[in-house]
Amino acid sequence: MIDTSAFQGKTAAYFTLGCKLNFSETSTFGRILEEMGVRTVERDADICIINTCSVTEVADHKCRQAIHRMVRENPGAFVVVTGCYAQLKPETVSGIDGVDLVLGANEKADLIQFLSEAWSCGRSVTSLHRYHTEKTKDIKTFAPSCSRGNRTRYFLKVQDGCNYFCTYCTIPYARGFSRNPSIDSLVAQARQAAEEGGKEIVLTGVNIGDFGETTNERFIDLVKALDKVEGISRYRISSIEPDLLDDELIEYCAHSRAFMPHFHIPLQSGSDEVLRLMHRRYDSALFAHKIKLIKDTMPDAFIGVDVMVGTRGEKPELFEETYDFLKSLDVTQLHVFPYSERPGTAALKIPYIVPDQDKKRRSKRLLDLSDEKTEAFYRQHIGKEAEVLFEKAASGKAMHGFTKNYIRVELPPSPDNDRLDNQLVNVRLGDFNYNKTALKAIL
Ligand code: SF4
Repeated sequence: MIDTSAFQGKTAAYFTLGCKLNFSETSTFGRILEEMGVRTVERDADICIINTCSVTEVADHKCRQAIHRMVRENPGAFVVVTGCYAQLKPETVSGIDGVDLVLGANEKADLIQFLSEAWSCGRSVTSLHRYHTEKTKDIKTFAPSCSRGNRTRYFLKVQDGCNYFCTYCTIPYARGFSRNPSIDSLVAQARQAAEEGGKEIVLTGVNIGDFGETTNERFIDLVKALDKVEGISRYRISSIEPDLLDDELIEYCAHSRAFMPHFHIPLQSGSDEVLRLMHRRYDSALFAHKIKLIKDTMPDAFIGVDVMVGTRGEKPELFEETYDFLKSLDVTQLHVFPYSERPGTAALKIPYIVPDQDKKRRSKRLLDLSDEKTEAFYRQHIGKEAEVLFEKAASGKAMHGFTKNYIRVELPPSPDNDRLDNQLVNVRLGDFNYNKTALKAIL
C-alpha cells in the first residue's frame, strides 16, 4: 500500500528519451503521481523521473547529458532514473552525482512503490545511489500504460520485451523477453480512453506482433476485440515485424471498422544476405508479398518502412540491392537509421565495417528516395475528399490533423478552429502547404 500523504503538495519533473513506449510509460507515471497530489513542473521539482533509452551510442550520451541537466535544474530533488540505459548500465548511472535511485526494466512497473518507499525512508539516509536491476531472463513485470499524447490520440502499451535477438540490437537485453497483459485488460483501458473523449489509439510495444506469449492469446483477437470498443474511431499499429504481420491481419484491417489503412513495418535491409547477417526472420520476397497484399486490399494505405544503413557486412553492392528493392516497392515513407555499434551484440563479430562517410552517403540517398515517395503519395490525394481528425493548436497557429491514411492536413489559423479540436471532419485536400509538410484542407 502506498502512503500518498507524503506526496501531497509536492512537485515532479519528467524527462523521456527514446521510443513511444517510454513516452507512454512516463506519462502514466505522471498521471499516477498527479492523482496522489503531485503537480508537474518544468524546474525546481521535488522529484525527477528520467526514462532513458540505449538504442545507440548517441542515445547513451544523451541520457547522461539529460541526467546531469535534470540534476542541475532541480537542485535537491529526489532523482529516479529508469529505462533501457538504466537497465544496461546501472552502476554507471547510479554513480552520477545527484542520482538517488536507479530502476531497471523489471522494477519499472513498480516505480511508484519504489519511489514511495525510498521517499518515506528519507533520501539522505538510505536511498542514495541505490540501484535495482534484474538479469534479462528475470525481467517479468509489465508496466501497464495508456497515455494521452494529447486529447485526441492515446498510446496504449499492449506488449513489452522481445525474443528475437537481431544481431545489432540491445533491446531484448534492456527490456527482457516478450510479455503482454490480457485482451480483457487492454479493452478496459481502451474503453476508459473513450470515456475520457479519446478518439484515436496507437497500439505500442517492442515487438507487438509477438503479443500473446504470456496469455496464450493472439494479436488478431486483440485487434478484433478493440475494434468493437464504442467511441474509439481510429486505431493505428505503431510498428509490426513483417513475419508477424499475418495475411489474416491485413485482410481484417482492410474491412475493419476502426483499424486505419496505415502500416509501419521494419525492413532494415532489402538484401537477403544482410538480412541473414542481422538474423531477421524473413527475406525480401516475404516483405514484398506483404506490401502487395496491403496495397491490393487497401490501395490508399500509407506504409512507413524502417531501414538501417551501414550495418556490418553491408558491402556496396548489397546496399545497392536494398536501394533497388525499396525503389521498386509501393511504400510511402522510409525511416532511415545509420547503424551504430553496440557493445555486447553479435553483430560485432561480422568483419566487414562500413566507413562513416559511406553510411552518410547511403542515408542521404535513401532519405531523398523517401522524399520522392512521400511527395508522390501526397500528390495522388490532392483534390480528393478525406476525413481528418483535427488536433488542438496553440492560439494563432495553424491547426493540423491526419487523414485515415496518415496524410498530414493543415488549416490556416482562425478563431473558429477551436470548435474543430478532436473532431472528425470531412474536407477536400488541397495543394501542399508552404514548407511541404502537409496538404491544405478546404472545408
Ligand atoms: S525484433 Fe529485432 S530489432 Fe526489434 S526489438 Fe527485437 S531484437 Fe530488436
